[in-house]
Amino acid sequence: MNSTSIKIKALTKSIWVFHVACSPCNNCDIEILDALTPRYDLERFGIQLVGSVRHADALLVTGMVNKKVVDRVKRLYEQAPKPCVVIAVGGCACSETIFRDSYNACGPIDKIIPVNAYIPGCPPKPEAIIMGVVKLVKALKGES
Ligand code: SF4
Repeated sequence: MNSTSIKIKALTKSIWVFHVACSPCNNCDIEILDALTPRYDLERFGIQLVGSVRHADALLVTGMVNKKVVDRVKRLYEQAPKPCVVIAVGGCACSETIFRDSYNACGPIDKIIPVNAYIPGCPPKPEAIIMGVVKLVKALKGES
């Protein structure tokens, strides 16, 4: 087993996520917070939010990437320890939806940094966010 696969194995035991809000309307962010409340309890899978990108195993990205945030998003990704998985949450992050032709749009998040999972919806429900993260963990473990 090489060092990258050891890191991936360790990462899937307890994913620490950093929330990157590009320029969302905040509904996706509210659903992420909802997924962390005792009602949905994302922490039972070992998944918890961290306050610094330097402690993150995964980035949860919401909102459309605009000219104001594009360099910051790249920098955050560079600062995250590798391997780092990126999850696009919501239609804006996945495909820009109605903002696609905006003068200020810099493209969906996968044009800026590599993305490992997409959770569409406007906003996606907490169940969809949990399902997306669990599916990603399974994929990283080679179970799907
Ligand atoms: S996908 Fe919908 S809910 Fe999420 S940030 Fe965009 S407009 Fe808001």
